Amino acid sequence: MKKPFVTLERLQEIVREHPTPFHLYDERGIRENARALLQAFAWNPGFKEYFAVKATPNPQILKILREEGCGVDCSSLTELMMSQRCGFAGGEVMFSSNDTPAEEFSLAAKLGATINLDDITHIDFLKDTIGYIPKKISCRYNPGGTFTLGESKEGFQVMDNPGQAKYGMTRPQMAQAFTRLKELGAEEFGIHAFLASNTISNEYYPALAAILFQTAVELKEETGVHITFINLSGGVGVPYRPEQPANDIAAIGQGVRKAYEEILVPAGMGDVSICTELGRFMLAPYGHLVTRALHHKHTHKEYVGVDACAANLMRPAIYGAYHHITVMGKEEAPHDHMYDVTGALCENCDKFAVDRMLPEINTGDLLVIHDTGAHGHAMGYQYNGRLRSAEILLQMDGSTRLIRRAETPEDYFATAVWD
Ligand SMILES: *Cc1c(COP(=O)(O)O)cnc(C)c1O
Repeated sequence: MKKPFVTLERLQEIVREHPTPFHLYDERGIRENARALLQAFAWNPGFKEYFAVKATPNPQILKILREEGCGVDCSSLTELMMSQRCGFAGGEVMFSSNDTPAEEFSLAAKLGATINLDDITHIDFLKDTIGYIPKKISCRYNPGGTFTLGESKEGFQVMDNPGQAKYGMTRPQMAQAFTRLKELGAEEFGIHAFLASNTISNEYYPALAAILFQTAVELKEETGVHITFINLSGGVGVPYRPEQPANDIAAIGQGVRKAYEEILVPAGMGDVSICTELGRFMLAPYGHLVTRALHHKHTHKEYVGVDACAANLMRPAIYGAYHHITVMGKEEAPHDHMYDVTGALCENCDKFAVDRMLPEINTGDLLVIHDTGAHGHAMGYQYNGRLRSAEILLQMDGSTRLIRRAETPEDYFATAVWD
């Protein structure tokens, strides 16, 4: 059973001050999880997590993660600007983008970010844009084909399609790129790959690491470059469904360590630093979308309309993603009603749940939609004139802090030309 990180009583106090809907974040959960990640990779002295800003681009969240020793992974101009304003600089910033505009490379270089090139043509594009090739540089690898992990012991299979993904360079391009970058003055090299998303398996990172470590050993032999870091990127998932097991980050860290000791250390590459760019794993479970039941509708199906909509959380609408729902105060009640839980958008996909068994919902009930801390508010949009909600931090001492106000009609109108 998934348990909210806030009680009904506390939530009732919070909604007196902050009207629904809003995203609520659990500072304690964020900090404890970040510490567990760092602990899992403590065997690697150079380890660093670069939080994928796109997952939860809120300055206060970034500052909490910075206090826990994390850097940031940016992929756009505004993400770089936000990170800069939060105090991240130099070695704390990874820039992993694709189809990159020149101005973004310029700002990344100005911040001293580690630039992770998505394509071989970006070498000359970067050099022409900023006038030089940074001493430390990374290239994104795409091995093509399909990536599968055999059925894990928990029964969940990991499968993804790198061959259909627009990201990264082929294996021959990786060797060409390293050779060219070395000629242009690069001294420290990194390899990055992202082969599967939201994996629920302790085997994903170790399997990816083994591929990248082996590739690193080969590339070092072929090109003679000094590879100093390997970036496992994102993709470690969270159990959105209550029956799914959670990843064990300590086991994942040990799995990567085993591959490191088997492949890199014998090749004389025991000084390589491991980086990660986790987004979902760092934040998803520590965010709730809090919403209230507004309407009941009984037609061909049973509908409960809430005051949040896909503009606040898009994943169910665009991927049919499952997000668990707790009807606050009715955790123990029989789940004997089948509902579609909908928002107000004029789009039939605007449903947080379809045919979901829930306790009987009364108008005014508070609902917690789970695991919205990553790719939740961040993916918000304004279709139908629905505005993005507030973000609230539940702090370590139990008090709340508004960390982003809700948009107002004035915000929505501000970009239009009226006369
Ligand atoms: C989205 C993204 C991440 C984070 O992915 P998660 O699945 O949220 O962990 C990391 N790196 C890059 C380059 C990304 O695009």
